[in-house]
Amino acid sequence: MSDKGRKITRRDFLNGMGVTITGLMLSASPARVFGFTLKPGFDSATEYYPPLVTGLRGSHDGSWEAAHKLAESKDPGVFGAPADTDTLYDLVVVGGGISGLSAAHFYRKKFGPDVKILILDNHDDFGGHATRVEFNHNGQTWMGFGGTQFIEGPSLFSTESHTLLRDIGIDLNRFSSTTDSTLYDNMGLSRGHFFDREHFGRDVLLRQGSLSWTDYASLLPMSEAARKDLVRLYTDRSTNYLPGQSSIMKQRTLGQISYHEYLRDHVKVHEEVLTYMQKNTHDTFGIGIDGIPAIRCFRLGRPGFGGLGLKRGNYNSIGGEASVTNTDPNIYHFPDGCASISRLLVRSLIPGVAPGNTMEDVVMARFNYSRLDTDQTSVRLRLNSTVIKVESTGRSDTSGSVDVTYVKDGKPYRVKGKHTVMACWNHVIPFICPELPPEQKIALSYSEKLPVIYAKALIRNWKAFYKMGVDRIYCPGSYFVNVQLARPVNMEGYNFPSDPEQPMVVHFSRFPVTPGMPPKGQFRMGKYELLTTPFETFEENIKDQLGRMFGPVGFDASRDIEAITVSRWPHGYTYEYAYLGEPDWKYEDKPCNVGRKPFGRITIANSDAGGKAYVNVAIDQAHRAVEELSE
Ligand SMILES: Cc1cc2nc3c(=O)[nH]c(=O)nc-3n(C[C@H](O)[C@H](O)[C@H](O)COP(=O)(O)OP(=O)(O)OC[C@H]3O[C@@H](n4cnc5c(N)ncnc54)[C@H](O)[C@@H]3O)c2cc1C
Repeated sequence: MSDKGRKITRRDFLNGMGVTITGLMLSASPARVFGFTLKPGFDSATEYYPPLVTGLRGSHDGSWEAAHKLAESKDPGVFGAPADTDTLYDLVVVGGGISGLSAAHFYRKKFGPDVKILILDNHDDFGGHATRVEFNHNGQTWMGFGGTQFIEGPSLFSTESHTLLRDIGIDLNRFSSTTDSTLYDNMGLSRGHFFDREHFGRDVLLRQGSLSWTDYASLLPMSEAARKDLVRLYTDRSTNYLPGQSSIMKQRTLGQISYHEYLRDHVKVHEEVLTYMQKNTHDTFGIGIDGIPAIRCFRLGRPGFGGLGLKRGNYNSIGGEASVTNTDPNIYHFPDGCASISRLLVRSLIPGVAPGNTMEDVVMARFNYSRLDTDQTSVRLRLNSTVIKVESTGRSDTSGSVDVTYVKDGKPYRVKGKHTVMACWNHVIPFICPELPPEQKIALSYSEKLPVIYAKALIRNWKAFYKMGVDRIYCPGSYFVNVQLARPVNMEGYNFPSDPEQPMVVHFSRFPVTPGMPPKGQFRMGKYELLTTPFETFEENIKDQLGRMFGPVGFDASRDIEAITVSRWPHGYTYEYAYLGEPDWKYEDKPCNVGRKPFGRITIANSDAGGKAYVNVAIDQAHRAVEELSE
């Protein structure tokens, strides 16, 4: 998702409480941060500003335990009898991500500005995946994205998504002047590769720059045979590696085998090239080349297909749904990625929560979290609240209301809503909506969200990157697969650190998958890994990786890293139904389409309901879910 200069993005190719961790002892200790004293919690409303908390974030401790307890016991009664609150809301939204916030927005548009809405979320911050990571260093603010980064491919967005973005003040045209996409190129920086000694015999950071594949390969710590194969893979556009097959047969073959199998058995590349390529798809698909049908890699423009005589748009449904090519540049993001979309939504829903009225001024606006949940506003956003039960109190058709029970600070509470939109994760819904028909529960449980780690380190300066001539690094053997400098964005009061002497937020991504297992098994294992890995492990790996890459040019991890925030997302990217072994679903049978059917006054939003991990899908699903509700 963060591959600079890549015009063709995931969108072109992608057409539960899944893991219960029993008896899990989380070893995540209070986060330790260099040069910062970390507050383990919040003492008062004035201190409550979650973006500034460093350490282990994302699905932070305190956010997931109630849901896992429910999944283990399958009985909301384990939390005790809920205390009833006397408020009747028009709408209760479960989940405060972009989809839940959008549902509140659409509901107000449909039913009027005075409707009473309560949004419940289990995290200590709003935005779901679209949260902000903020650092304050020597009195200056630096920021990055905790998860959702780009408004990807807006030319493909629906009218509803465009309208919502406009409603909250986003003018997409403005990003061309706020995003400086040529800064690094103009400074002579380009993509690099880090080869680690464990997998390639020695540690070496290389910059490809304008070198040809032949010249570049000669520098790589690989055997001569592997270098030749790598050059062949990237430059040979004439060999037909599927001889004797018609165009349709080729597409069928590529749809049925993984890219790994294609490279190994048909292109016949050297083992070391397979090691080099294994994580090539991590950022895009959240899994390695063993879990992705070769046809998707063909459509993504990965190497090895040039001599097959297939056109990129010329495929049948075996490889997934047809798609329109997204040619939008990757310029549509705020300094905090898409967290500013969440912030703009919250600012428009809850008056007085933050100053300002433009898409630019929201970036530096300090949000007053104590205003999120008061009786002064018709929309309330209640954090640290895990919903454990949603039940119609009248008939499950159009009469009555919905009881929503949630746990906050270990205690259960019950609120009533005329309507409820489930903008949480699909696999959670069967646990908390006992009334849903069994086939709908099965469909909702089908998907397996992808585990992801996005970490951020604030470094004192980025001279080491500048000296090495790299702004983004693919690390095929290392703990973190991608390491890259923040993308240059300047927005009203937020000045990007364009001088290498300035501090910089560095992004790290890790996809904890285990090649060789079926994709869903890999995702389940990955969730377990994420919830059992202490902050110190991430911290040590960040220090180790930066030290090994940049130590030779004077980088000292202990001295130069100022702070670290690790956003762990055991339930990360939406499952997109196109991994290896996935059936070729008909629209009406696809689990996300079956699972999102309305149930009386309860409807289902969130990006899982659209089967795609995108901002606009989260918005579109919210729109549909609200449209399904009537008085
Ligand atoms: C690391 C990462 C990077 C991404 N990058 C991009 C990108 O660059 N561009 C893009 O378009 N998309 C990206 N995505 C996809 C992203 O998921 C969507 O774009 C969008 O932000 C999803 O919004 P959502 O509201 O549907 O889900 P979420 O953001 O997941 O929000 C759902 C909320 O519901 C809460 N919830 C779940 N269960 C309960 C419960 N029982 N009670 C209360 N609350 C509950 C969750 O904790 C969460 O806060 C990324 C995803 C991840 C994980």
